[in-house]
Formats: sequence, structure tokens, C-alpha cells
Amino acid sequence: MDFEPVIGLEIHAQLLTETKIFCGCSTNFSSPPNSNICPVCLGLPGALPVLNQRVVEYGIRAGLALGCSIQEESVFARKNYFYPDLPKGYQISQYEEPLAIKGRVEYLTSGREICVRINRVHLEEDAGKSVHQGAHTTSLDYNRSGVPLIEIVTEPDIYSSSDAADFFGRLRGVLCAVGINDGNMEEGSLRCDANVSMRQVGVKELGVKVEIKNINSFKFLEKAIDYECFRQSEILSSGELIDQETRLWDATTGRTESMRSKEEAHDYRYFPEPDIPTLIVAEALVDDIRKVMPELPEERKQRFIKEFEIAEDAAGWLTQAQGLANYFEELARQSQNPVASGNWMMGTVRRYLNEHSADIDDFKIDPSELAKLIQLVDSGVISGSAAKTVFSKMAETGANAESIVEDEGLKQIADEDVLSLAVESVLKGNSEAVETYRSGKEGVLGFLVGKVMKETQGKANPKLARDLLKARLSSE
Ligand code: ADP
Ligand code: ZN
Ligand code: MG
Repeated sequence: MDFEPVIGLEIHAQLLTETKIFCGCSTNFSSPPNSNICPVCLGLPGALPVLNQRVVEYGIRAGLALGCSIQEESVFARKNYFYPDLPKGYQISQYEEPLAIKGRVEYLTSGREICVRINRVHLEEDAGKSVHQGAHTTSLDYNRSGVPLIEIVTEPDIYSSSDAADFFGRLRGVLCAVGINDGNMEEGSLRCDANVSMRQVGVKELGVKVEIKNINSFKFLEKAIDYECFRQSEILSSGELIDQETRLWDATTGRTESMRSKEEAHDYRYFPEPDIPTLIVAEALVDDIRKVMPELPEERKQRFIKEFEIAEDAAGWLTQAQGLANYFEELARQSQNPVASGNWMMGTVRRYLNEHSADIDDFKIDPSELAKLIQLVDSGVISGSAAKTVFSKMAETGANAESIVEDEGLKQIADEDVLSLAVESVLKGNSEAVETYRSGKEGVLGFLVGKVMKETQGKANPKLARDLLKARLSSE
């Protein structure tokens, strides 16, 4: 029997506000443990939560960016459960009436049209953090309690592990582009639960799903889904049924392990949070936010294709992260050569970043400096291959292009008189090729240009060398 996976994601993204969702405590990630806490975020008796207006605005931005409708009225509820990192005994989260509903994310990926519907975007608070120290000690840090999150729930519209990782990456790009999340998965500001089921190919009905909790990297997301698909296929093939449960990804074993049987909504005894009134969002507020929404990655990609005439895959790669897109855009404008800028980004720069496991934001060469290098090539001062050498030196030392060209003597010979000498000597030494050319086989010109390059240790301006050769060969 052939099975295919069906996947829905639930993504938690920390909002980039300076203060928490229901109190004025700082959301700073690196503060000492338990230094950003107060009676409200600890849920001490008598403390009153007050909703942070900024959180609402950021939630609306996310909703709009994901094509959702913003609900005029949304409601906070208490989700009751006990865990040491949740001293209140409940988490405040929107439940039946979320802030935003019914969105969709559409894009092209290697020629396929993808559409993932968004079920909802709701606001909630984060819990604290248990820090396990050895086998017998656990410390609790409540700095995270009350940090604002949005939860984004997709419909089960994803059909492979690689599409899931790709989608998660795009979502990250969107959230960062609209300035509400920093995309930092290592610090946990963006994490995702994957719901995975298998169904027989050709069958419409969905299978029983398993939820894999708290995945914090694209690679793990893909691997966890792959493992889960394999595990479920084995079970189904042997005629057994899938247990609906919550599992955890174990990166060291490369497997998912059962954590608990699935909890049902009624287990949480949801009820409306009595201390927070219904959230009413005026249409005017939504309109104001819509007006100032920044360009989304997909829009930026289309603009790059049109404005800079670069290829679709290049535009896609460049717009996956804001830093990259900003870098490219500045490079293209300053060098006044968008196509060369795209090639540099896709080739040399990308390779450099990969080799150094670096991010564009840590990249030492300023776009204005790289732009000067591109212009040195365009104006014929240095050759394309010399430019690669200059680039490496720039990245290594931080020196600027002109001074490296000067110090290393990389300037091309664009002086006709000097180059003519080299041309003469090449013509003399290659009489056979000269004959061949004159007999009508002009393809041999490239060979002669190569000889001139060699004669000048690669410093001849190839175009000028070619022109001079041609002129000389047809003059007699
Ligand atoms: P639950 O009742 O477990 O909360 P929901 O219907 O709210 O389930 O969906 C939670 C997440 O699981 C959503 O992202 C949804 O797309 C996904 N999902 C629901 N059913 C399936 C299924 N059969 N296979 C894969 N994913 C599913
Ligand atoms: Zn607080
Ligand atoms: Mg649900």
C-alpha cells in the first residue's frame, strides 16, 4: 500500500515588544533568571492583567501579512493545567474567538503553486522555563512567563516534509519582514509543532494524526516528519492503527518518542478570562496598520524580478531573508549593475557565507565597497577573475577594493600601445593559428585572445585584446 503524508503546522512566534503581554516587565532574553517578573506574570492572587496595546498591533500585522480577516471581537480564555513552569495553573490564550482567522499563504516553489490556508492567528502568553541541572535538580526561570506570543495554525495543506520546512522558512521571512519577530529559532522565539498523518494515496479522508512538539530548526522539522511518516507507514502497512498522541523529536536518536496520549480541549477546562474584557478591534485601527504594512518577501521578489531583471530563482533566494534582500538592493543601486550584483550574491557571496557559516548581517564587506569592486570590473580596470582575488582579500582584511588592486598590481592593461606589443608577439609565435583565421575559421580568435592573456599574466583587458587582434588580422 502507498501512503502519503498530510501535515498541518502550529507555529509559536514571540512578538518583538519590549514589555510583556499583560504587565510592564521587560521581555529581554538575556536578563538574569527571575529578574523580569512581577505579581501579574507570576499570577499571584489579586494581580490584574492589562493587555499590551502593542501586542494587539503586532498580532494584527501578522494576521494581515498572512491574508487573514481580523475579528472585530476576540476573547481571551484560561487554559488550565499544572506544570512547574506555569505557577498560575493556567495560561491566558485566545481560544474560541481568535484575533485573526481564515488566511492563506500562496507562493511558487520550483514551478509548483503552493497554497496553505491559515486557520487562525491568536494571541497568548508564554510560560516560564524549566532548567534541568543534572538528574536531581531543576531550576525555574519565570522571565519568559507572560512574554507575548502569537500562535499560527495552518490547515492540513502540506504534503511533504520538504514543503513543510520550506513553508516554515517563508513564514519566518514574512514575520521578520513585518517586524514582529526576530526569527531566532535557537533562542526559541520561533518554534513549531508538526501534526502528521498518513493516508492511502487516492483517499480523501484524513488519517489519525500525531503531534510532534516544539521543533526549533528547519532541519529537525524535516527529519522529524520523515521519521514520523516512516513510523506511521510501518504501522499502517501491518494493518494496525495509529495512536493519536503527542510525541517529541529526539535529535540524538533521530526518532520521535511518545510523550503523552493526546489531550483534548475539554481536558483544559477553558473558560473566558474574567480579568480581561473582550478585545474590540476598531476597523480604523486595522486600516491604519494595513496602510503602513511593509513589503512582504513575495512582493519584494516580484519587484526584484521586474525592477532589476534578475532571474526568478535568484530573486527567490535573495528575498528569503531581509538582510540579504537589503544588501542586494543597496548593491544593485550603488553598482548600477543589478545583474552583476545578483550574480555576485548568488555566487561568490553565497559561497563565502556558506563556507564561513556566516549570516549576511555579520558579513564584513559593506555593499558600497562591493559595489566599487563591481564598477572596477565594469569599467575594465580589473578582470573578472582578478575581482575574485580582490573579493577574498576584502573579506579577509577589510581593506577596500582600490587599494587591494593597487597593492597587488591587478590593474588590467588597457593601454593600447602596451597591449599591441603583446599582440604582435603572439601573432609572431602562432603563425599556424593566424593562417587558420585567415582561411576563414574565425573561431580560432578565442585561442589567440587566450595567448595574449597568458603573455600578460592575465592582466590584458580581454575585450581590448580581442579588438586589437581582429584589427591586426584583417589589416593585411
Ligand atoms: P486538535 O483538535 O488536535 O486541536 P485541530 O483540528 O485544531 O486539531 O488541528 C490542529 C493542527 O493539526 C492544525 O494545524 C491542523 O491543520 C492539523 N491537523 C488536523 N487534522 C490533521 C490530520 N488528520 N493530519 C495532519 N494534520 C492535521
Ligand atoms: Zn510582570
Ligand atoms: Mg485545536
